[in-house]
Amino acid sequence: PGNYADSKKFVIREYTDEQYAAELNRIRERFSPLVELCKKRGIAMRIGTNHGSLSDRILNRYGDTPLGMVESALEFARIARDLEYHDFIFSMKASNPKIMIAAYRLLVARLNELGPDWNYPLHLGVTEAGEGEDARIKSAIGIGTLLADGIGDTIRVSLTEDSPHEIPVATALVENIKKTSDAQGPTLNAQLSFDPYSYQRRATETIAVVGVGDPGQRVKLGGAELIRVVVRQANFDKIAHKIDKMGDYQPEIIYENARVADVDPRDDAAIAKLNAEQSPQFVTVRDDVDFAAIPAFRLLAARLHPRHPILLKDVFDCRSRSVDFLTTLLTAATNIGSLLCDGIGDAIFVRGEEAPGQALRLSYNILQAAGSRIFKTDYVACPSCGRTLFNLQTTTAKIKEATSHLKGVKIAIMGCIVNGPGEMADADFGYVGGAPGKVNLYVGKTAVKFNIPEVEAVDRLKDLIREHGKWVEPVRRAAALEPAS
Ligand code: SF4
Repeated sequence: PGNYADSKKFVIREYTDEQYAAELNRIRERFSPLVELCKKRGIAMRIGTNHGSLSDRILNRYGDTPLGMVESALEFARIARDLEYHDFIFSMKASNPKIMIAAYRLLVARLNELGPDWNYPLHLGVTEAGEGEDARIKSAIGIGTLLADGIGDTIRVSLTEDSPHEIPVATALVENIKKTSDAQGPTLNAQLSFDPYSYQRRATETIAVVGVGDPGQRVKLGGAELIRVVVRQANFDKIAHKIDKMGDYQPEIIYENARVADVDPRDDAAIAKLNAEQSPQFVTVRDDVDFAAIPAFRLLAARLHPRHPILLKDVFDCRSRSVDFLTTLLTAATNIGSLLCDGIGDAIFVRGEEAPGQALRLSYNILQAAGSRIFKTDYVACPSCGRTLFNLQTTTAKIKEATSHLKGVKIAIMGCIVNGPGEMADADFGYVGGAPGKVNLYVGKTAVKFNIPEVEAVDRLKDLIREHGKWVEPVRRAAALEPAS
């Protein structure tokens, strides 16, 4: 939908019901022969909506929203069903995990409303996730959250890396869910504290706890404050001598000094005692609860008075730490990222990773990928395909080298102009393959520079960022954070 049989000109216009119906008839004419052919040959089809690739018709009626994504797919599904073709699977991909999660949940709700014969399988994916640790975290947040919800039948992790790298990540995500699905815990006998279809941060009161700086320094959290990063005293001691070299990956609160109340969310007396406190308390789930982190924190958020800020943990039992960093990363990203995307959590505490530097980097990268705390440049990069007009991996590396100091700027790197511009989502700037050896540059969704020779395109991108007032000169740091210490 959006790229098939549809025009995509970002035109703003009102569609009357007649015009809308005429558009649907046009799609029916274009789509029906394909459906008939698939039916005749016994071929299955994916009806896959991508956020950012919605048709003008859908955009004008529903906006660039999860609801628009769902309705777009349903338009095509209705045509397929009218032709008695049912071998299809849906997908609702987006590069923003919050949008992707909301779209799949909304689709499931709509399919349930439509009736039991609408129970088609779902393929999950976070699109244009990019590469490296950030891409793995983003994928785990989107795919892992939905798998933990019980949604999803096939998955793809899209990386801007050699395709075989995607497989261990996808396999580990599925293995992780298999492990935790046995520990989902009691059915929630409480109303969810969040709207699963639309993000809103849980509204707590603000508190101040002891910080890691000078004696007497306090760090605010909760309310509209930044979501904070917590470490254990023992880990803080290991890195205390090099804090000034740790750049943006700074510990902010020491767990042992923060007067955290830990409760079993099923314990009525403990919850009632906390809820009777008039001043906001900093609360987390106890380590000895015997169920998975996501349902445990959801239950806590549901039962705890909203004035109390919540500290999220990735795991409860640190003795069962994984020796494999990928599993640690995916577990932390799924558990903490999922809760952040549902608006739960005012501070995070990654404990699955023992190395303090690595645990801090993971904490901040999860906050960034969930869109909860932006502290560095955000990249959206397509996974590449037969249409790609330049080497995505080396180009992405070059662009990152030139721009990775630009906090809060979002840059899309897309291999072609066929699908690239539509799928850049909410990027501030786009670097898109226009022709072999030539690049088009975008500001938002508007192409502003065309056919720039590839050798000078990164410099032109820097110029463009400068022209739009978002460039700052890089500051050389004394030393980078040691990743695994
Ligand atoms: S090259 Fe174009 S079609 Fe291929 S993955 Fe990238 S944006 Fe999508």
